[in-house]
Amino acid sequence: MKRLPPVSASIIGIAFSASTLLGAATLTAQAAITDADIINDQATTGDVVSNGLGPRGQRYSPLSRVNTKTVKKIQPVWAFSFGGEKQRGQESQPIVHDGVMYVTSSYSRMYAIDVASGEEIWQYDARLPDGIMPCCDVINRGAAIYGDMVYFGTLDAKLVALDAKTGKVRWKKKLGDYQAGYSYTAAPLVVKGKIITGVSGGEFGIVGKVEARDAKTGELVWLRPTVEGHMGFLNGKENGITGGGANKTWPGDMWKNGGAATWLGGTYDPETDLIFFGTGNPAPWNSYLRPGDNLYSSSRLAINPDTGKIVWHFQTTPHDGWDFDGVNEVISFDYKDGGKTVKAAATADRNGFFYVLNRQDGKFIRGFPFVKKLNWATGLDADGKPIYDEAMRPGNPAKSADGKKGSTVFSIPSFLGGKNWMPMAFSQDTGLFYVPSNEWGMDIWNEPVSYKKGAAYLGSGFTIRPIFDDHIGSLKAVDPKTGDVKWEYKNVAPLWGGVLATAGNLVFTGNPEGYLMAFDARSGEIVYRFQTGSGIVSSPITWEQGGEQYLTVVSGWGGAVPLWGGDVAKTVKKFNQGGTVWTFKLPK
Ligand code: CA
Ligand code: CA
Repeated sequence: MKRLPPVSASIIGIAFSASTLLGAATLTAQAAITDADIINDQATTGDVVSNGLGPRGQRYSPLSRVNTKTVKKIQPVWAFSFGGEKQRGQESQPIVHDGVMYVTSSYSRMYAIDVASGEEIWQYDARLPDGIMPCCDVINRGAAIYGDMVYFGTLDAKLVALDAKTGKVRWKKKLGDYQAGYSYTAAPLVVKGKIITGVSGGEFGIVGKVEARDAKTGELVWLRPTVEGHMGFLNGKENGITGGGANKTWPGDMWKNGGAATWLGGTYDPETDLIFFGTGNPAPWNSYLRPGDNLYSSSRLAINPDTGKIVWHFQTTPHDGWDFDGVNEVISFDYKDGGKTVKAAATADRNGFFYVLNRQDGKFIRGFPFVKKLNWATGLDADGKPIYDEAMRPGNPAKSADGKKGSTVFSIPSFLGGKNWMPMAFSQDTGLFYVPSNEWGMDIWNEPVSYKKGAAYLGSGFTIRPIFDDHIGSLKAVDPKTGDVKWEYKNVAPLWGGVLATAGNLVFTGNPEGYLMAFDARSGEIVYRFQTGSGIVSSPITWEQGGEQYLTVVSGWGGAVPLWGGDVAKTVKKFNQGGTVWTFKLPK
């Protein structure tokens, strides 16, 4: 793997300014985070300094002390409550560095916790204004760390940099107008001294974008809108219109509120030096109002981290009509094909297809459904484009008798997706992807709609329904070379939490029923379960400290399912809310 050049003097300058040196004297080994720390995060098992356990997002740990034989003996060492009346969904992946855990929670809060004792060091509450418009619960998916600061985004669309030692605000920047529907929930990405962020708000007709800010000052370095027709910027100067100009793949003025929200954040591959971001649905959902492919909605984008230039794009659902956001994580991995190494990237889409791409140029290698009964397309063509069954596109309301409601279709998967936000894991030992998926469908129909600032901009109605009697959730071990599902675990409730794979031949995830679960990575056998007291919709991590392997997961039921789940939401109503960080290890 190619390494970045040595960190520059200016980056060192961030880490050791005069004021932090004074503070550092009283702390042992509170080393500032460098680009090398983030790039090497997966291999350095003493900490977790990036979302995804490494910028490629594999969520794989080489640790093996906790393994299929020993995992039964792990015990909680502490549990930390977020406290207060503010509970709801907890989707955060913690960061751990030098014995301190940084974990975000619902309602845009962050906590620093002493890993050894479970005691709080500081907490920060963003104190949100009235009128925020999060589409899908008041969640946050995690922090970033760089230099001597920790970073996270808020539901009123601010990016906040905090002093890692004290939790005091160092800078705060506006990512968008929350009164127009912008919000922020993803874990920021750190690449070469810059904090890279997207935005949420695709259900309100915002315009998606990816932005890079100087980690030290928060000043904008570049901005790349993800909807054709909008101007990009680099160092304060215009830097080209996205897609080269308006009205190539969008009609009239529709591109001005075109959605394509970059709400799940991104991954970074140091080897190709590319950032990968996905984009959400084109707005509004009613596809008859915007004939064309609607670039770059429902796509994966590879972006130059220095300039914000789109290097390649791969659109998973051109002219989306089902809210098949294309935001899901792009995970870089290599595999052997006839003795040749393929530099690939994999992504599992809301639309139910799993894609393997060449990560250097975005070319389609192969794709296959990873959910059952997928019915909106009959397959993928040689370029990876869906082959539509036009009868499965919800009908045009303008063609209905009263012009108010188009014909309803029952589409599989539902708009909450074959897979939603919850990240999958890639095991370097088995070569398999462990995909948290859901088997469900939806009645969906279209209605007239026009854009109004700060109002939902859908033009659709929908009801999600199960397609099997005994389960919706489905954790699958997927072979990216063949599409074979090596094993499947069926869960009654929809799965909504991320996955972790380890060299201990283990796969960890949680379920809304409240269990942290460990599976044998090869057989799928459940080898450990622990009831955390509330549903798990977050991503577990593992690291080692003092010669011991730790495991942490955040518990707290919520997220999009109880809010948008239709018939399914009724079945998960009984799950209790919460907000607890659970940390485990083997007994000494
Ligand atoms: Ca690490
Ligand atoms: Ca969406």
